[in-house]
Amino acid sequence: MVIAAGGATLGYNLLQANPKFTKKVPIIVIHGGTSGLGLTKEEFAKREAIMQKSLLAGQKILTDGGSATDAVIVAIKIMEDNPLFNAGKGAVFTADGFNELDASLMDGSTKKAGAVAMSRAIKNPIEAARVVMEKTWHTLIAGEGADKLAKENGLEMVNQKYYFTQERYNQLQEAKKKDKLLLDSDKVKTHLNLYTEPYLGTVGAAALDSKGNLAAGTSTGGMTNKMTGRIGDSPIIGAGTYADNDSLALSCTGTGDIFIRVATGHEASSLYKYKKLSAQQAVEETIKQVAALGGEGGIVSVDKNGIPGFAWTKNKLGMFHGLARVGEKPQVFFPVAR
Ligand code: ASP
Repeated sequence: MVIAAGGATLGYNLLQANPKFTKKVPIIVIHGGTSGLGLTKEEFAKREAIMQKSLLAGQKILTDGGSATDAVIVAIKIMEDNPLFNAGKGAVFTADGFNELDASLMDGSTKKAGAVAMSRAIKNPIEAARVVMEKTWHTLIAGEGADKLAKENGLEMVNQKYYFTQERYNQLQEAKKKDKLLLDSDKVKTHLNLYTEPYLGTVGAAALDSKGNLAAGTSTGGMTNKMTGRIGDSPIIGAGTYADNDSLALSCTGTGDIFIRVATGHEASSLYKYKKLSAQQAVEETIKQVAALGGEGGIVSVDKNGIPGFAWTKNKLGMFHGLARVGEKPQVFFPVAR
């Protein structure tokens, strides 16, 4: 892990310095959400361990010749199952005290996609996104319909208690007191002294496989104190998740309501495809648009040549992100803003 004090783009600069980086190699990139900047090394280390596990699992699929879609799902599931992340177990609460989960998946080779929103009972929403993509002719299924579909397709179902963590519950009470929506990064910024643990966010992944196919996925509990029924960017194809074999695959995290308005996923892909920006330039330009509308968050991406791009609103937060190229050691970064 690299904690880049004073160097917001250190993670990316390191990659650019890697001579092997020009070779097209299957790769997976992931994020574990954004966070405030006051975290300790120990706090980083805990998250890094899970993210390393996630990268290794995705990398193994790619090394064995598996698909980008499979790699993305496996990597996301590991983070969904860990209560440290705001996805699956450990999801944040709505204003009414529910956990409502959103997830999406897109295959860049077919441009097929699937997503679920407002699920209250699926253990791994990313698996349900795959069911929507592969077994229905729809793209987004919400609420009870999503839970019913998952159950009918044999996915593991849970009750609301499964998602509960005391930290997330406390976070809701804090948000209510302040009458505001909290990103995980807000949690860390404003309440670091109240809790021993920071609360990292949404999870996502994008990958390029050995056949040259791209895929991306995202999974989240959303934003603390969101209105019950609110759907963020994470299950919206073209916003929180996008993949196109002719450009890039990406996953977003942050203030989803604004990411939707920027159509972040499609915007970055279009900047790459039509304006011929690099993967890095495309996500940086897109994040600028998010910031211009008052949004916060970040994007991880990988282009059709296996070149990654990482960008986030750097003024107040960092983004946990990592990458694993086949044949190389996975790396996790949490660069600190300037
Ligand atoms: N983008 C997510 C949402 O708005 C939240 C996050 O990424 O932290 O639902």
